[in-house]
Amino acid sequence: MNKLKNFTSLRRLIELRGAIPISTFMEEVLLNHDLGYYAQENAIGHIGDFVTSPEISQLFGEMLGIWCLTCWELMGCPKEFTLVELGPGKGTLMHDLLRSTRNVPGFHQALEIYMVEASNKLSKIQQNKLKSFNYIKQTWHDNIYDLPKKPTLIIANEFFDALPIRQYQKIKDEWYEILISIIPSNQELCFIKNPIEKPINTYLNAEHPNAIHNAIYESSLKSIEYMQNIADHIYNYGGCAAIIDYGYDYEPNQRIDYSNSLQAVKNHKYHPVLSDIGYADISAHVDFNILKKAAEHRKCSVIGAISQNKFLTSLGIDLRAKMLLKNASSLQGKAIMSGLERLISPQQMGDLFKVVAIYNDFSNNQLIF
Ligand code: SAH
Repeated sequence: MNKLKNFTSLRRLIELRGAIPISTFMEEVLLNHDLGYYAQENAIGHIGDFVTSPEISQLFGEMLGIWCLTCWELMGCPKEFTLVELGPGKGTLMHDLLRSTRNVPGFHQALEIYMVEASNKLSKIQQNKLKSFNYIKQTWHDNIYDLPKKPTLIIANEFFDALPIRQYQKIKDEWYEILISIIPSNQELCFIKNPIEKPINTYLNAEHPNAIHNAIYESSLKSIEYMQNIADHIYNYGGCAAIIDYGYDYEPNQRIDYSNSLQAVKNHKYHPVLSDIGYADISAHVDFNILKKAAEHRKCSVIGAISQNKFLTSLGIDLRAKMLLKNASSLQGKAIMSGLERLISPQQMGDLFKVVAIYNDFSNNQLIF
């Protein structure tokens, strides 16, 4: 039984305008201020529904710290810059990043923190987590439209997968949009297929020559818009961004896999997308290829997508784990090693998770990976 009864706004919307795109559903179900999934306190973490890399191991935030330091040095150690995190969850990544860089001369003095978070509940948790760094200017926002006009480093872990997507399915030679509607007899939510306008159909057929019957193409306009804003800012004021997420990077004419990546997760298990809405996390794999093109189109350079394994290994995660082991009890040692394994093993997060870096030309391609 879904909780659609509670989402009266969603029901009214479907009644008023008919079936809605998946993007509208995702936005409402994830971000509604009272009922949305991210309005809950315990979504992320071991006792929540899903665990992210910074919640698995402090090594993750520490490696992002090294990455930021490297970029800062390549930028010529500007005396003032903005450190932006998109979708900071429980604030753990930023906390570990700041803790591990606090002894670097000039680094904390130069930065101001700009947290982009749509959920009021999570913003409060993040503010609390970063209390010990209150000598650094910290501000919270729900978008990146007003970034300070100075060099900027941007990090985003599992942010883009939460941004809304629309889905199109190819049936024989025609594409249809998958929409969400209500079954009149029992008021449950359901997916339906809707014909799309001819030019979009022609475009999808031309752009995706290898898509076969039943192929699903997913597109996230919000992600592209975010990437364009990031790239414009980095191009104008200097800096670098690291986008880390699960996803794929295929050139459309070489792409073969067109599977459905929309997924819901509850209590660490996959869950039907239209059940228990507001109580399960909903996400989709990130199309890194289109994000890279969006950044390049706005005159930025791009590296990747490379695997999370390669990213973290080039930053020295093995060495750091060894250092931590020196002062660890045997129990702590086991936790350090299992965290490391989860982050970099190709069978776990090492391959599925990928990293794309965007930068202006400050670094002549000398970025660490
Ligand atoms: N980066 C964190 C959390 C990932 S979960 C980690 O690695 O643990 C996704 C995060 O993005 C949550 O903090 C969620 O509230 C936030 N978020 C999702 N959609 C958003 C949007 N449109 N604008 C701002 N924040 C958003």
